[in-house]
Amino acid sequence: MQHSDLLSRLGLELPAGGSGLAVRSPVDGASLGTVPVTAASEIPDIAARSQRAFEAWRNVPAPRRGELVRLLGEELRAAKEDLGRLVTLEMGKIVQEGLGEVQEMIDICDFAVGLSRQLYGLTIASERPGHAMRETWHPMGPCAVISAFNFPVAVWSWNAALALVCGDPVIWKPSEKTPLTALACQRIFERAVARFGSDAPADLLIVVNGGRDVGEALVASPLVPIVSATGSTRMGREVSVKVAERFGRSILELGGNNAMIVAPTADLEMAVRAIVFSAVGTCGQRCTTLRRLIVHKDVRDALLPRLKAAYASVSIGNPLEAGVLVGPLNDKGAFEGMQRALEQAKADGGVVTGGERALADQYADAWYVKPAIVEMPAQTDIVRHETFAPILYVLTYETLEEAIALQNAVPQGLSSCIFTTDIREAETFLSAAGSDCGIANVNIGPSGAEIGGAFGGEKETGGGRESGSDSWKAYMRRQTATVNYSKALPLAQGIKFEIMG
Ligand code: NAD
Repeated sequence: MQHSDLLSRLGLELPAGGSGLAVRSPVDGASLGTVPVTAASEIPDIAARSQRAFEAWRNVPAPRRGELVRLLGEELRAAKEDLGRLVTLEMGKIVQEGLGEVQEMIDICDFAVGLSRQLYGLTIASERPGHAMRETWHPMGPCAVISAFNFPVAVWSWNAALALVCGDPVIWKPSEKTPLTALACQRIFERAVARFGSDAPADLLIVVNGGRDVGEALVASPLVPIVSATGSTRMGREVSVKVAERFGRSILELGGNNAMIVAPTADLEMAVRAIVFSAVGTCGQRCTTLRRLIVHKDVRDALLPRLKAAYASVSIGNPLEAGVLVGPLNDKGAFEGMQRALEQAKADGGVVTGGERALADQYADAWYVKPAIVEMPAQTDIVRHETFAPILYVLTYETLEEAIALQNAVPQGLSSCIFTTDIREAETFLSAAGSDCGIANVNIGPSGAEIGGAFGGEKETGGGRESGSDSWKAYMRRQTATVNYSKALPLAQGIKFEIMG
């Protein structure tokens, strides 16, 4: 493949060879270039630069900060086709999804522009005479964004658009598997800054490419009060402890082991379409991928043959080509992890359909697979584990309570859904005794969240944190201010100190 035109349109002139991160495309295994890396030892200086940017940016009025994000949205619109294609090349998702990812970036910019005029605090009735109380939300400081390979650009923007209008500069550590798309976003951001004018300080966005050690250095830096980390549950556990040790704030968006309950009254036609889209799309490499299907015993025999027929007709191939629904796994490690999970499922009594390597003759250095359906006798350990590949485990239930208990009995509680036309079942699923996930849907699959709602969040971390709703509060500090406009100074309830004269 020859992609130099695309890279140069995105402003990416990469040195030929040399040291750094070697980037290869999961589409065919070909090299895309080598990207310079930041050493972990450089992070203290970088954090100090970001801190200086903060000292200027926090004084720029929030609606003016919103103007920069509005321009970023415009630049993203202009670069959408190219950036979407680069996402496909570097990550391997189909072009429509690459473009969809960029559209999410544009949408969150629009959201953040409006937000820049709505960073509201409360006014509070004081219990003391002659006093007024109010809350103000102030910027916090540099925000580190550590992102995962499977959403290489959208996750950054969900954080960055909010952080920037909230007055926080951003230091971005992208996945070591997707450094090119991060550099392309940096160029796009620089174009927005150039149009914005001189009240944008230098270093509002710093991209640091590198491995886990670079992420660890950011997590440890006392000059970085907010760490927003998206990735595996393992990574989240490590990051949260380190950030808590120094009283920093972490925003964690972690793995998912998402389920769908298919109830007796479900519209099976709709359910089959939703299952295929959410279980095989992005080759099972979405945090919100459907991984567990919990089907009522009375509809299982009607559902499974239709599902298997739909799986058999799914087109697997080069994600740059039109009509392809399933692209490759990211790398050989992902393929081996999938095969190990299928072996374990078989050892636990599972019956596997699909799951084998595909297109190996055409793409010897890439890892295409047939999505797998695994009928399980029980929810064993392997089912409760997030394997980042297109494996759909099928379980059977008799009562709704049993189905909800199965769905909640995993350590990763990100997204969930029920297919039913029975309002009692739907409302029970959404109630306090229902799904324990940050996202709970009725008659929609678990993937494909909108930016307007708070996204992500494991059940251990308290539900969705990034993106919409009131997530902006995580990027700011609350100050409660009391103004005494009386002539008395109350010291404590009932005690007053009168100023004479
Ligand atoms: P990963 O955990 O391997 O890596 C994610 C990022 O964390 C990378 O940039 C990596 O360099 C960095 N990192 C790893 N260990 C670190 C540490 N100890 N300290 C600091 N940084 C560290 O995840 P991945 O394989 O890139 O992505 C797949 C995972 O991400 C899946 O579990 C998926 O469900 C999850 N994910 C979640 C969301 C969400 O919003 N909930 C979105 C996308 C992906």
